[in-house]
Amino acid sequence: DSRKYTGIVEDCCCDYETVDSLNRAVLHPLLQELVATPFFRYFKVKLWCDCPFWPDDGMCHLRDCSVCECPENEFPEPFKKPSLLGLPLDDLVCQEGNPQATVDRTLDTMAFRGWIEIDNPWTHDDETDNGEMTYVNLQLNPERYTGYTGPSARRIWDAIYSENCPKYSTGEACQEKKVLYKLISGLHSSISIHIGADYLLDETTNLWGNNLELMYGRVLGYPDRVRNLYFTFLFVLRAVTKAADYLEQAEYDTGNHEEDLKAQSLMRQLLYNPKLQAACPLPFDEAKLWHGQSEPELRQQIQKQFRNISALMDCVGCEKCRLWGKLQVLGLGTALKILFSVNGQNHPHQPLQLQRNEVIALVNLLSRLSESVKFVNEMDPLVEMKMEGL
Ligand code: FAD
Repeated sequence: DSRKYTGIVEDCCCDYETVDSLNRAVLHPLLQELVATPFFRYFKVKLWCDCPFWPDDGMCHLRDCSVCECPENEFPEPFKKPSLLGLPLDDLVCQEGNPQATVDRTLDTMAFRGWIEIDNPWTHDDETDNGEMTYVNLQLNPERYTGYTGPSARRIWDAIYSENCPKYSTGEACQEKKVLYKLISGLHSSISIHIGADYLLDETTNLWGNNLELMYGRVLGYPDRVRNLYFTFLFVLRAVTKAADYLEQAEYDTGNHEEDLKAQSLMRQLLYNPKLQAACPLPFDEAKLWHGQSEPELRQQIQKQFRNISALMDCVGCEKCRLWGKLQVLGLGTALKILFSVNGQNHPHQPLQLQRNEVIALVNLLSRLSESVKFVNEMDPLVEMKMEGL
């Protein structure tokens, strides 16, 4: 076996081989289907760039940078009728001239039925419902290369790493800080893998495809970044399965009965998967953390750092990167909330409550990570051979 990554994923409870085979056979196909259902494909987000740190100077040169956010035409008639009739005609024209890439603002009242508004101490997002919030069809705005690069992009990653989660020195005792660093690094690896997996190879012919050099230069050539990706995947997977009771009973109602039942059934298959339970019942063991003396202060400090990272997402100068950055950081914040805030020592009696958007972010993040893990598993041997000139 020529596997490069073997043994237990550091600080987790399952080994690389198991993660890869489970992901390939069970998780990735399930998640792909789940995120395509109406409940999970619409994310509500304030895309207005409201950067609290620097005036926005980063512009990207590709059209793929901007998010297409227009009225939806695929929804069942009864679902749209009452409010769409009143919309001005302009709103029905998609900004990018792509009639399929559309979003229905009127989804709101319907889709939020049964979901509560609740704070997440790990995130900075202002979820106040107002005209600045828009729905984005994630399936039609894929995370991919956008051309966003240079000082603006670099400054954000630098701020995230240097101000908020300095790389732990080897042997550092504080496990909790190490977790935060690894989550960010794992997310960064996943974003880079998606950029490399869906790259504009030729601007004149609009040819898109894999960019193996980029994947190697940013992720595959750095084993610790690959390990952090696997760690982040298992961490988020653990959060989803830990919240199983809540997620099983949640409302997946968008008015599309058939699709909503499908979302519910896929969700159950994910939450109570016999193969997953047999091979990797505890992807990450959060009970091992937060036992130190400085626990409450440390939790607050890490929470504050993560909120800063969440706020930094408003400074991402490319709209589509901002969309996926916000979604995935909210997903991580939701995983942190599930694993570290609820039923933990400082909130022993507080039951878990999640916002609809948190659930959408969490599941879409898991799906992105699952896809990156699959790419790494498939591409790594190819890239190694290529880089070695074989
Ligand atoms: P960067 O990826 O910017 O990395 C900067 C530095 O961070 C590296 O030099 C290295 O020292 C360190 N580093 C890199 N990876 C890791 C890791 N995994 N762990 C630890 N340290 C690491 N561009 C797109 O084309 N599409 C997108 O969807 C997109 N989304 C983005 C979302 C966010 C939130 C941000 C901040 C940027 C996004 N970008 C996106 C830009 C993209 O991430 C890169 O910043 C850009 O392509 C320039 O890459 P780079 O080679 O300078 O290295």
